[in-house]
Formats: sequence, C-alpha cells, structure tokens
Amino acid sequence: MRDNNFIHLCQPDARKSCGACCGLYNYAYSTKESLVKRLRQRTALFHKTVNGQDDLEDFSRMIKESEPQTKIYEVIYCCEYIGFLDNSEKKVGCLLHPLQNGGKDFRDASFYGRDLCDGHFCPSYHHISREEKLALINIIEDWYLYGLCITDIDLVKEYFRFISEGIGEMPSADRFKEGALNEIARRFFSLKLSWLFRSPETNRFGKYYFDGCQYMINHIDYDALGCERSRFDRIFLSLTSQFNTLEELRKGEAIIQENIDEFIYKYQEAY
Ligand code: SF4
Ligand code: SF4
Repeated sequence: MRDNNFIHLCQPDARKSCGACCGLYNYAYSTKESLVKRLRQRTALFHKTVNGQDDLEDFSRMIKESEPQTKIYEVIYCCEYIGFLDNSEKKVGCLLHPLQNGGKDFRDASFYGRDLCDGHFCPSYHHISREEKLALINIIEDWYLYGLCITDIDLVKEYFRFISEGIGEMPSADRFKEGALNEIARRFFSLKLSWLFRSPETNRFGKYYFDGCQYMINHIDYDALGCERSRFDRIFLSLTSQFNTLEELRKGEAIIQENIDEFIYKYQEAY
C-alpha cells in the first residue's frame, strides 16, 4: 500500500503530467510544437481505430509508417502509445492504461510490457525531496517544461539548494504557488527552453551525451576557459551549456545568480 505522503510525479495534478520515460523527448524533433502535433494526431487515430487489443498491432504499424522516427539516442525506445489523455491537451500519458480504456489494461502490447510500465518509478522519485517535488509541481504548469525539469535531478536540487542557502531554509512549497516567487522560479526553470548558451550539438541532453555506443557525462573544460570550476557547474550541465569564452561563462553565471538573488530578495521582502 502506498503511503499518504506519496507524490505521483508522473500525473501530479489536472494541469500537467510527464511522459519522459516513454521516450517523448527522444525524438529528433522534440520541440513542444512538433510533439503536440505528433501526440494530437496519434491520439485521434487511437480513438478512431482502437476498439480492443486486436487493433493495436495495426495502430502501431500506422504510427511507425506515418510519423518521423528519427531519434536522438537509438537505444532509447520511443513508445507509440503515449498520447494526450484529455481534450484540452494538458496531460500526456499512456493510451493503453486502463483509465483510458474503460478499465481494460492493454499495456502488454507495448515494447516494455505491462509490468515494467506499471512499476517504473524514475530516479526523481527517490532523489528529489518531498518539499522539492511539491514546490516544482506548484511552479510549473506546462507538461512539456514539467517533464524536462522533473527528470533533471541536478537542476531541481541545485536551484533549491542555492535559494535555501540564501534564505536560511527551504521555502514551503506553498510559497511557490503564485505571485512573484512563482514567477521568478518559473523563469529559472524555463531556462531549460531558452538558455542562451545551449550547445548546438544534437547528441546532447542535459548533462548527458551519446558517443554512438553509450551515454557519457559531459564536462565543461574550465582549463580551456582559464578559470576554476563554476559554482553553477551542475546547473550549466543540466542546461546543456557550451561556453566558448570566459566572458560567456561569466555572463551565464550572472544570469543564474540574478535569478537566485531576486528570489531571495522577494522572499525576504515578504516578511
Ligand atoms: S520520467 Fe519519472 S515522472 Fe516522468 S513519467 Fe517516467 S516515471 Fe513518471
Ligand atoms: S505503454 Fe508504457 S512506455 Fe508506452 S506510453 Fe504506456 S506507459 Fe509509456
């Protein structure tokens, strides 16, 4: 039995959900716009053509024939059964789940199978604290940004560490619900989408890159930049950074620091 403190990161509320481990962000074209188009079309096709388990093979074939299949990492499966769960397209999730099919569970037809899909809890469940999880759920409304951030343990923990150190405590998750603190924190996590120093390399995802055979952890070459390791190193890696000069690195640090300082100022101003 699940304890009452359990926080369902995959489907946290009615405003958003996550589909990262179903391979959503592993399509070569995984901007929000292209994923919305993909998910919208396949969800409509699913509801039009799937009436039972026997229809799934045809559905899978049609998806693979009609959608671009190029991936960032070949070894990570992109599941054809993830779609939109609601008409307003706020929540992504499994079209084979019993809640989508009048109680019938079709997940055995999938690449991973029912047991793996049902029992999978990504590392964020274990490594992000309860207060951090609740805070992030309060900060981010959009499924696309939420999925990118909830799976990025370093980004989440580092941000809350820096603001907690400045304030002297981890702010209650309620403080992130609305107003200036919500807006400042949301601006920070939105750097995932708009980071000025994002590497143009397409085989990188956060701190990881793929060398053709396996995942590797990327490193910033501080020696080449002529400086010490940045205090924001983990955040920079999460943001898939590439700095060509020391000036760029310092500018990146200033952007992060300004956000942290602004948060701390607004937080303390409220008392
Ligand atoms: S990556 Fe984690 S939070 Fe996202 S759907 Fe998978 S298990 Fe859930
Ligand atoms: S079948 Fe499994 S991998 Fe595919 S969408 Fe459903 S939960 Fe995700």
